[in-house]
Amino acid sequence: MPDDMNLQAVLRDLIYANHILHHHGVVDAYGHVSVRHPDDPSVYLMCGYMPPALVASPNDLIYYNVADSSTVDPDSPKGYSERFIHGELFRRFPSVNCVIHSHAEEVLPYVVTGVKMKSVYHMSGFLGSDGVPVFDIDPLYQEGDQRDMLVNNARLGEGLAAKFAREPNATEPDETVVLMRRHGFSCVGRDIVTAVYRAIYTRINAEAQTKAMAIAKNNPDPHGQFVFGEGFDAITKEQEKGTKIMCEKFQDKPWRLWVREVERNPLYENTLGPNHQASR
Ligand SMILES: [Zn+2]
Repeated sequence: MPDDMNLQAVLRDLIYANHILHHHGVVDAYGHVSVRHPDDPSVYLMCGYMPPALVASPNDLIYYNVADSSTVDPDSPKGYSERFIHGELFRRFPSVNCVIHSHAEEVLPYVVTGVKMKSVYHMSGFLGSDGVPVFDIDPLYQEGDQRDMLVNNARLGEGLAAKFAREPNATEPDETVVLMRRHGFSCVGRDIVTAVYRAIYTRINAEAQTKAMAIAKNNPDPHGQFVFGEGFDAITKEQEKGTKIMCEKFQDKPWRLWVREVERNPLYENTLGPNHQASR
């Protein structure tokens, strides 16, 4: 595929991703998705200061330098203050080509209780069985900082990116998703389809785990204990390995459905659509 066609396909899918994440409750007026430029890894793209559902054309997108999240074009319109989430993840991890940030309400119980979110079914094996790590922004604040929880500078973005790796100098992320204390979550993927899949099933997993724990609380065993340790039955280590492989293999199928859903919904406009064949 020629470079310009490849870029067009990625732009088209970035616009679709904005709509899909809104349609599936991962973002509302807040939250964002970005993609690394397919021909220039030192640049990433995301929409300007607007609700994701309203992104409609390449004119709505801003090009940023990975090095410092400055705009490639100094005359670019206003962008998201939390673009440093994206810039610092792209800077640290060369294999990451898509980043999503969300405040999905289903995930919020796991960023304010200390209860670990774990994969509870096969579709979310990428979350793992140990508990998704939680990033706490507070220790990174300095005197005079406005403690509004936003990851709005490179220092805070770098701190969040560090939570995706278990070793200080690792350049491959160990985590697919990191929760953010009193805020939400961020996730990464090698392409748009992978990251969107992970964001949607993170939200669904959180909802399922919460419901499971609520049911368990009201249905203890005859000794008053949970049937399963924490009130829910997380996947095993072996299932984690197997489902990670399986999930990677079948992400293109839901993408075709998700694209059709947003194409047929008059709320969403995509001047580069329609096309169901994902750019990967
Ligand atoms: Zn946020």
